[in-house]
Amino acid sequence: TGGSSRPFRVVLLGARGVGKSAIASIFAGAADSMDSDECELYGDEVCEQTITVDGEKATATLVDNWDSEDQCIQTGDAYLLVYSITDRSSFLQASELRISLRQRRPAHHTPIILVGNKCDLVRRREVSVTEGRACAAVFDCKFIETSAAMQHNVWPAFHGIVQQLRLRRDTK
Ligand code: GDP
Ligand code: MG
Repeated sequence: TGGSSRPFRVVLLGARGVGKSAIASIFAGAADSMDSDECELYGDEVCEQTITVDGEKATATLVDNWDSEDQCIQTGDAYLLVYSITDRSSFLQASELRISLRQRRPAHHTPIILVGNKCDLVRRREVSVTEGRACAAVFDCKFIETSAAMQHNVWPAFHGIVQQLRLRRDTK
């Protein structure tokens, strides 16, 4: 399998109902490649998967956990900070989570992507793309809008986090 010695640990954070589990199940489904390993599930909250990014394999463990968020915040190598574009309070919660991440994971350049999910629900949009992008700029992280329901932009989000993790590893 190659790549790094241990799997990258990617943590999904965000308010209840924003689509974290839906995103995790796309990752677990591994639509990525024919020869990819079967997803190993530990409970229903952690999934390990080997994916090919830029021609190189990477093994990542995706943690989908809200209840023990405190523990999750401490243990990630990278974070997908998810809100729903249909729910402004989840956007505000993502900001709060970004602040606690900064306090509890003070290491510079911890890869974080702000993920505005449910972008298929255009008529229920409460948070504009511009606001999402501006928030990410302030919080010094990447930004992407996804639709887990339409399987839109979810893999690019995972690939983006792997690319950021590699950049960080290579510049250490
Ligand atoms: P979690 O609490 O963050 O894990 O959220 P879930 O993954 O359980 O999703 C909450 C609800 O939102 C479920 O009914 C999902 O089917 C729905 N959902 C998740 N992602 C999307 C999406 O991208 N678009 C739409 N329309 N619904 C979504
Ligand atoms: Mg869930």
